[in-house]
Amino acid sequence: MMETLAGKKGLIVGIANENSIAWGCARAFHAAGAELAVTYLSEKARPFVLPLAEKIKSPLVMPLDVQNDEQMNDLFAAIKTKWGKLDFLLHSIAFAPKDDLKGRVTDCSHEGFLTAMDISCYSFIKMAHLAEPLMADGGCLLTTSYYGGQQVVEHYNVMGPVKAALEGAVKYLSYELGEKKIRVNALSPGPILTRAAGGIANFEDLIAEVKRKTPGHEVPTIDDVGAMAAFLVSDSARHISGNISYIDCGYHIIG
Ligand code: NAP
Repeated sequence: MMETLAGKKGLIVGIANENSIAWGCARAFHAAGAELAVTYLSEKARPFVLPLAEKIKSPLVMPLDVQNDEQMNDLFAAIKTKWGKLDFLLHSIAFAPKDDLKGRVTDCSHEGFLTAMDISCYSFIKMAHLAEPLMADGGCLLTTSYYGGQQVVEHYNVMGPVKAALEGAVKYLSYELGEKKIRVNALSPGPILTRAAGGIANFEDLIAEVKRKTPGHEVPTIDDVGAMAAFLVSDSARHISGNISYIDCGYHIIG
């Protein structure tokens, strides 16, 4: 691969294991020459994330629970100390409490809704706030959405309105930060079997339905998502902002 990201520094949030979408993106960023900081959610996650961080020669590996303000501030302070700047970040996380995720939106608890929105949406806004001063020469903020935020997808439940809010945040951040040449985009992959996806009921049926309906009868891989992510954070995409980029084998035009 051409070193289109040589000299760029990026932050990756959301690697759980080698099936994670964030890992597919990290591999693509690394192959294109970027230097990457990586986070892990907890001590339980650490042994799975560390060997992956080593594979991409990450010089900065830090704990981050996005609900922990101190960890969030420490992470961006460490990036400032290490690099003095940040060129891009990938926010590839989502969470909703099990009962709220399995049930109807109509029955979602107040606490469950706020938790899902806080971790899966607000954290991206907070990261944009902390990244802005490190992006004096411009930059790119990427998050990860899903078609269930645009149209109703059975069993996606509370994550539907949460992703709709995330896509709204992409537009407003893109507008507000555009003057500083900070671009904001969302990736919207089709269904990929990951740990987070395993929490969605009947997920394998969804994969089968997508395979049946898409023109090529395929579903994307994490490497397909990585290829799009590496393009979006590169200078070749310097005029692309506020986009929802589907990597879904065309499913979104079929529904
Ligand atoms: P994944 O590998 O399970 O990644 C989700 C990540 O979120 C994990 O690393 C998880 O950590 C982390 N996380 C959860 N709560 C967190 C918190 N409070 N602070 C920091 N990190 C936290 O699943 P994935 O499918 O790659 O998901 C990545 C993103 O892609 C999500 O936004 C998801 O909605 C989106 N997406 C997925 C699909 C799909 O089909 N898989 C399709 C479209 C969009 P732990 O695992 O350590 O708990």
